[in-house]
Amino acid sequence: MPQINKVVIIGAGPAGLAAALRLHDINNISVTIYEIREQPTHLGGAINIPANGLRLIDRLGVYESLLKGGSIIPQLVVHSINGNELGRLDYIAKIKAKTGYEFIRIKRTVVVDALLSEVQNRGIPIHFNKSLVAVDENAKTGATITFSDGSSDTADLLLGCDGIHSAVRKLHVDPKIRPEYSGVSSMSSIVPMPTELAGMHTTFTSQGSVVVVPCAENSQEKSLFWFLTRHIPEPDTADKRDGWNEHREKEVAGFKNTLEEVTSEVGGDWGSFLRAVVSKTDTVNFYPIYRLPHGGVWHTSRCVLIGDAAHAMQPHVGQGVSMALEDVFLLSRLLKKESSLQESLRQFETVRRPRIEEFASQAANNGNRARQKGPWQMAITEWGMWAWFRARRVFSSWSWGFREEEWTYDIDRVDIDYFDAL
Ligand SMILES: Cc1cc2nc3c(=O)[nH]c(=O)nc-3n(C[C@H](O)[C@H](O)[C@H](O)COP(=O)(O)OP(=O)(O)OC[C@H]3O[C@@H](n4cnc5c(N)ncnc54)[C@H](O)[C@@H]3O)c2cc1C
Repeated sequence: MPQINKVVIIGAGPAGLAAALRLHDINNISVTIYEIREQPTHLGGAINIPANGLRLIDRLGVYESLLKGGSIIPQLVVHSINGNELGRLDYIAKIKAKTGYEFIRIKRTVVVDALLSEVQNRGIPIHFNKSLVAVDENAKTGATITFSDGSSDTADLLLGCDGIHSAVRKLHVDPKIRPEYSGVSSMSSIVPMPTELAGMHTTFTSQGSVVVVPCAENSQEKSLFWFLTRHIPEPDTADKRDGWNEHREKEVAGFKNTLEEVTSEVGGDWGSFLRAVVSKTDTVNFYPIYRLPHGGVWHTSRCVLIGDAAHAMQPHVGQGVSMALEDVFLLSRLLKKESSLQESLRQFETVRRPRIEEFASQAANNGNRARQKGPWQMAITEWGMWAWFRARRVFSSWSWGFREEEWTYDIDRVDIDYFDAL
């Protein structure tokens, strides 16, 4: 077994909290978590968790609380600009039959709260308000981290679970790689459910795509999450952060006009429904979508990045949390092997990179569909969607399940002994 007795985790998002639970329960390792925020954040919209992530959530012991707090999404429905239905796709029947799990949309905060309460139940130490300023690594003895308040800690292994703007990555593992703007930005809100709605509903308008989806049906407070994805150029300012802050203020102040303009294009009862959702919205979040480019270093001798810190992708494939969980489960198995830590970390990358890169590319393609369109492009997009749904209906009796292979994937079934024979 690699000589790992103590692990320090930076970041208390889904990756960090899940890693703490898994390493504590399965590997019996002493774990400590450090989080930069003063308390768990209440920011964030609603996220997807498909079957490949839900089975891991179940193994972590929080599946029941997530089912209670989220919405099962049985289908995807695409609407035309006239308000007609272009097609619908059963998301889960085949996948549920194979795995026992469905597909849920849930507030990010509910996921974080459920994981955090398990961490606290096990007595795993977690320290908030800790801003990392230095990482010092000795390949033989361990990694030492220092915080802005002067405190420090040393461990056999440092896990960077601190998201897309990871300090562990910037300070130590790969200072060169930078998040890049995807070209699209998102405006979103969670509103009380105006009327019963099943499934995830997408409408492509000339200005971007509008998605509405229940995200808390099973709880007492039924809620609907909507988001508008649009192409917005990166601000032309020396400091991008200042430019985005200025742009964000304008978007948030003028959100009613933007939404009324976008939804006014949509006809029929569906258009009226979208406008009712807009009228229930009091405030919005606006955020430019950044991602990490492919490549980049994921580990050194005694540090490894997981989740968004290693491979943040656009949200348009709904796999952010599930990829973080798969990282956690694979790493915890590899750390139990007889091989050296270096070998375990090398194998981790070998297994994870192809799957992550495939999802990241899909997410970028899906995000591109939200780009502004003229009348001809709109007609071609709608025709293409219509034809795709019809083709699927014809071929669905074959093995053509929607994302079947990707969503039935079980990271715990990856043969990690295979590498030893190479
Ligand atoms: C506030 C927030 C809102 C989000 N909203 C959405 C959303 O609406 N839709 C969506 O698809 N995805 C969203 N995401 C991303 C999504 O949660 C991630 O793709 C997924 O959860 C992967 O989890 P992660 O733990 O790797 O990263 P994250 O969820 O980003 O968690 C990283 C954690 O590390 C902490 N952290 C950051 N820097 C430091 C530091 N220097 N020291 C210590 N801790 C640090 C952060 O505060 C956070 O708790 C959001 C992320 C955040 C942080």
